[in-house]
Amino acid sequence: MTQSTQGTPVTYRDGSYIVPDDPIIPFIEGDGTGRDIWRASQKAFDAAVAKASGGTRRVVWLEVLAGEKAFKEAGSWLPEATLETLTKYRVAIKGPLTTPVGAGIRSLNVALRQLLDLYACVRPVRWFEGVPAPVKRPQDLNVVIFRENTEDVYAGIEYAATSKEAARLREILVSDFKAKLREQSAIGIKPMSEFGSKRLVARAIQYALDKRKPSVTLVHKGNIMKFTEGAFRDWGYQAARERFGGRTITEAELAGGDPGDRVVVKDRIADSVFQQLLLRPREYSVLATPNLNGDYLSDACAAQVGGLGIAPGANIGDGYAIFEATHGTAPKYADLDKINPGGVILSGVMMFEHLGWEDVAELIVRGFEGAIRSRRVTYDLARQTEGATEVSTSAFADQIVECMG
Ligand code: NAD
Repeated sequence: MTQSTQGTPVTYRDGSYIVPDDPIIPFIEGDGTGRDIWRASQKAFDAAVAKASGGTRRVVWLEVLAGEKAFKEAGSWLPEATLETLTKYRVAIKGPLTTPVGAGIRSLNVALRQLLDLYACVRPVRWFEGVPAPVKRPQDLNVVIFRENTEDVYAGIEYAATSKEAARLREILVSDFKAKLREQSAIGIKPMSEFGSKRLVARAIQYALDKRKPSVTLVHKGNIMKFTEGAFRDWGYQAARERFGGRTITEAELAGGDPGDRVVVKDRIADSVFQQLLLRPREYSVLATPNLNGDYLSDACAAQVGGLGIAPGANIGDGYAIFEATHGTAPKYADLDKINPGGVILSGVMMFEHLGWEDVAELIVRGFEGAIRSRRVTYDLARQTEGATEVSTSAFADQIVECMG
């Protein structure tokens, strides 16, 4: 592990980060293709910071171990030292990690989310000119999805059909609550709380206000699951009213009028949102969803604008955040200098925006747009783009740096 004693930690006070000119930012390189991607991404990040600040700011990267590298070097998939460092420095970026099979840890990503209570999974989805996409007008989709990250059927409260826990729960449900249940059913629980729902929706609304986005849509399946998904919708509207009073207005209150600079809060049933985002994408901006809906919706949206290879993401809590691409380790391309680093690079854009370094973020986006326009792109985009030249991961990063201007 490269331990740096230089640099200054990012701190957090009264709901805001205090970011020095030389922040220490921990990174997890990631397994498989993570090595190639991190090398390329760091190059693009450092170039953008140097250029945006005229050399007055720099990131002091601090490697922390997780995944296969940690297991090889430290004998643990997620060493205690990594958890301490991530907690101390608050904002970090990571590559994809292999989910160890049968290693006694369900998922490294889930463990990190739980440690820092990273309750919002944030996925911006937009199209970059030149990226091959399956729809006619991919430019019409420009949304940011806020997915609740700690509750719902993903909470991990699940029992196999043959377990004694499932048998006991079936007994209670049938005898005490008169539930109709097939014998030998497996049981999964879907917990959704007022606290968890409201803080997620509040974060989505705050983002919409900060970034001057027109609307926040609460996505739910409340017509069927009234007390969980339906409650998510109701709590969402309550959060808008209680915490953002005059700065939001509901679609019903607006009745087709002019919202002015207020954020419009509306809701849609989950299945209809999948259609709407394909058919009328321009009507949607920020989306707030429970965990399961959000998981499906984020990948569908990413595919609509050109695939998962360049889809960025973040897991955000109060005063803590870990930025990461949506894709996995793509092990068959490991160490071939072949894979697209766009997902991690655009996750870095989100990280710099989160830290208030908007100038750095804008420069990376400019470089990325230029690189795509140049058609000197990695294999995944090259094979679908007419007249494209396939370049390596590292050459694509060089192209991004060159296109920063
Ligand atoms: P994957 O995302 O690694 O691969 C799916 C497909 O997309 C493959 O064809 C791959 O070649 C392609 N692909 C992925 N990233 C790409 C990129 N940057 N550029 C071009 N093409 C790309 O998903 P998988 O195969 O289901 O999972 C492999 C491993 O990754 C598993 O161990 C899984 O648990 C892990 N995983 C980790 C994360 C994470 O750390 N956040 C997320 C998903 C999967």
